[in-house]
Amino acid sequence: MKKSKSFFPQKNKSRQITIKWKIFLFLLGFCGVLLILLWLFQVVFLNSFYKSIKINEIKATANTIEKSINDENIATIISTVSENNDICIKVLSSSGDTIYSSHVVKGCIIHSKPTFDEKALHSEVTNNDGELFQYYNHDGYARETEPDSVQPENTQIQDKPPAEEKEKDTLIYSKTIIDANNNELILVLNSLISPVNATVNTLRVQLYYITAFMILFSVILAFIIAKWISRPIEAINESAKMLATGDYSTQFKGTGYKEIAELSDTLNFTAKELSKVELLRQELIANISHDLRTPLTLISGYAEAMRDLPDENNSENAQIIVDETKRLTTLVNDVMDISKLQTGNINVHLQPYNVTVSLSNSINRMNKMMELDGYQIDFIADREVTLTADETRISQAFYNLLTNAINYTGDDKKITVTQTIFQNPADDLTNWVKIEVADSGEGIAAEDLPYIWDRYYKVDKTHKRAVTGTGLGLSIVKSILDIHHGDYGVTSKLNEGSIFWFTLKI
Ligand code: ADP
Repeated sequence: MKKSKSFFPQKNKSRQITIKWKIFLFLLGFCGVLLILLWLFQVVFLNSFYKSIKINEIKATANTIEKSINDENIATIISTVSENNDICIKVLSSSGDTIYSSHVVKGCIIHSKPTFDEKALHSEVTNNDGELFQYYNHDGYARETEPDSVQPENTQIQDKPPAEEKEKDTLIYSKTIIDANNNELILVLNSLISPVNATVNTLRVQLYYITAFMILFSVILAFIIAKWISRPIEAINESAKMLATGDYSTQFKGTGYKEIAELSDTLNFTAKELSKVELLRQELIANISHDLRTPLTLISGYAEAMRDLPDENNSENAQIIVDETKRLTTLVNDVMDISKLQTGNINVHLQPYNVTVSLSNSINRMNKMMELDGYQIDFIADREVTLTADETRISQAFYNLLTNAINYTGDDKKITVTQTIFQNPADDLTNWVKIEVADSGEGIAAEDLPYIWDRYYKVDKTHKRAVTGTGLGLSIVKSILDIHHGDYGVTSKLNEGSIFWFTLKI
């Protein structure tokens, strides 16, 4: 039965946006951040960045000269740094006389403009804590200090034209230094600042174009990326919906990128496993109903015969009814056990007990029950062993192996149980006990061996009356030993009998 598409829950549909829009918004946001950064750095702060770089450069040059002022080669040093940094330099005495001079920039103010008053400089610098920044127009007739720097009141070049009208393109840095003879000197450095306004305007126009291009580009990119990412996801989604309707033959074809390929492999595996479970479920229902029907038919048949025919009302027939009822009980118990064991919904009572005695008692009971049918179970034990485990569960596992051996043993009807102690190399050579149940029956084909421990697996799918089983016995053994951290296995070949074994830590 297929369910309609509306069956699938679609939570918060209105709040979900498609992957395409998500990527688009993400890219748009990313472009927005980039553009804001570009705008800030290239338009808003470009001027101040440039100026601070120039100021640092001129300060560093001044420091170099200050350090070497007592050097005998000071004249050479001044002309070298002056040339290297494109800065005009003068070293003046406190009265304003030139001691050293280097003139590298044509038209610099400190060398070319007569209006630059060197005599007054000393008092100005001293009044300004020994350090003075001045900004000049190229013609040197107007000057302004940085708005935020404190300046002395008497500035020396007051002439026209006013500062606001022209781009200030020269920076003069003056600093007082002391030489070896304790004379105060004034270091004057003149650096050109190129006007950045024109650059800023160009960048602004460029940014308009870049913004438009980025938006267009993110739309196209978002569209391509979203298609590339979402197409395989959509395909997988469609297949998953088919799987959910119970179509286990659905094939997931994930291509495009690694994660999707892995996801589709996983889903293909899941679909395969689900189909196996479904097959097992159907088989189980068929098996269990068959197994339930056989004893029920016998019980009702014998009961009716005993009721209607006085001759049939004997203890043998009553025994058959009792046996069949027991068989039914076992079947129902097995089904309950396995579901409990496999959901982990089971209490394990670990207690030290003598496993040798416990095995021997089980065998004696079984021998008594089966000796009329000619079965013989031998028990060989090297010595008595006490271990901590859940006695009821371990007996149940052993009992399952024993009943299998009885069911499947050969015509000699012989079964041998052996108990041995060994040092387990897989567990630091500690002492372990191994219990083996050997029969002389038909054995198990190599291709069936890996599956016999699975739930509901039966080698002989046709139900012979003599051997009925739920296919759960070995699966119960496996679960019990897993709980006890024991090991289990089988050695068997077709027509050569089987040896089922399990081991437990002592
Ligand atoms: P079942 O209730 O059918 O015996 P089990 O889980 O106990 O289920 O066993 C699974 C299958 O393993 C059985 O159907 C049988 O074919 C095979 N098997 C188990 N024990 C033996 C044995 N001693 N000799 C041969 N085959 C065995």
